[in-house]
Amino acid sequence: TPRTPEDVKRLVAEHDIRFVRMWFTDILGQLKSFSVNSTELDDAFEGGMGFDGSSITGFNAVEESDMIAVPDASTFAVLPWTPKEEGVARMFCDVHTPERTPYEGDPRYILRRAIKRMQEMGFDSFNVGPELEYFLFKDSREPEPLDEGGYFDLTALDAGSDVRRDTALALEAMGMKVEYSHHEGGPSQHEIDIRYADALKMADDCMTYRLTVKEIAMQHGWHATFMPKPLTGENGSGMHTHLSLFRDGRNAFYDENDRFFLSDIGKAFIAGQLRHAREMSAVFAQWVNSYKRLAPGYEAPVYVAWSRRNRSALVRVPLYHPGKEQATRMELRCPDPACNPYLVFALLLHAGLDGIERGYELPEPMERNLYHLSPDDRRRLGIEQLPETLGEAVELAAESELVLRALGEHTLDRFVEIKREEWEDYRVQVTRWELDRYLPVL
Ligand code: GLN
Ligand code: MG
Ligand code: MG
Ligand code: MG
Repeated sequence: TPRTPEDVKRLVAEHDIRFVRMWFTDILGQLKSFSVNSTELDDAFEGGMGFDGSSITGFNAVEESDMIAVPDASTFAVLPWTPKEEGVARMFCDVHTPERTPYEGDPRYILRRAIKRMQEMGFDSFNVGPELEYFLFKDSREPEPLDEGGYFDLTALDAGSDVRRDTALALEAMGMKVEYSHHEGGPSQHEIDIRYADALKMADDCMTYRLTVKEIAMQHGWHATFMPKPLTGENGSGMHTHLSLFRDGRNAFYDENDRFFLSDIGKAFIAGQLRHAREMSAVFAQWVNSYKRLAPGYEAPVYVAWSRRNRSALVRVPLYHPGKEQATRMELRCPDPACNPYLVFALLLHAGLDGIERGYELPEPMERNLYHLSPDDRRRLGIEQLPETLGEAVELAAESELVLRALGEHTLDRFVEIKREEWEDYRVQVTRWELDRYLPVL
């Protein structure tokens, strides 16, 4: 992997790269890119490349629109689907203001700030392993599946295995280690799992993953989508996220003498996720459509609880390797793959660190299928429910001290404004469901 601008220039020459794309991310997690001629790299590394921030969702208004993209040499990678000669590479950028300070609205900076807080508390790395699910459809007009397969199906039931293989190879070419890939539960639904990495690299990798999945699908004439719930009555697409904190090469979540193999740090971190789940939900699940996924019966979480085996819980502490230090981790099942990974990982880290700092108590695990509990049972057990709509979630985020601390005032204000508007727009739509249901009888 390249480390310095000199490494990058050597690789550019070696691989015959003509254009380098400068990548950054808007507030909603859309990848933004502009291309720089490889002869301009010295300038780019020295002073960054200017651009108009007012056209980027969530960035500043026109009055203060000058922004600078400063490339991060360590993220240089050749884009494997571009031509072998006069090819194209990319670097992720940090966004700075004309005063050369980090821009408070840059999601990468928001994650860097969270990591800094973690380091100040004595931890070395926040390891993140996300499982991004997606659907392959014939095109982007209708969600028309390519197969009728389900979980782990193959051959005739899996129209996507060649695309998945090509995608996995492309991801590896860009520095990700692919550990698993398989057909998922829904028809034409897939998952490729990459090995965990520290949060900043992983957030960058999530952006690359989404683009790569779409590029390779397009080469095969198909449309890949990370839309959380494209098919009524089928599983949606989640982004389960596995988390752990490391210190001096040791997993700070691990305690071999605990009945759950969890240290006090691990327990308090998980308690932080549970305590703050409702107010963070607008960032984990940021679209109107996200809340159609978070319903009982589709392996997606609805209630705020933790468990060892039960996939209806929000947090799972997987049992695959009981007592194995390196693998000890928690899995959060709420986020979906259409999120902004920088903001999601930043929030998760702050919530966990709050738990550690304030010594939050981890409740007992809930091993029962929570989908089957009656509202009375849940009330008796004190189990809260995740917000049911984007509208509900946004108002919880707007009031949250934690989300304010994590995102900063500028980004939280912009986020809430954009999301209230989206919700308002959706709320007044008259849908097919209503016409079918009401028009004949009312
Ligand atoms: N698709 C499910 C979700 O929405 C997860 C299914 C699985 O990975 N077992 O989260
Ligand atoms: Mg999985
Ligand atoms: Mg899955
Ligand atoms: Mg999982």
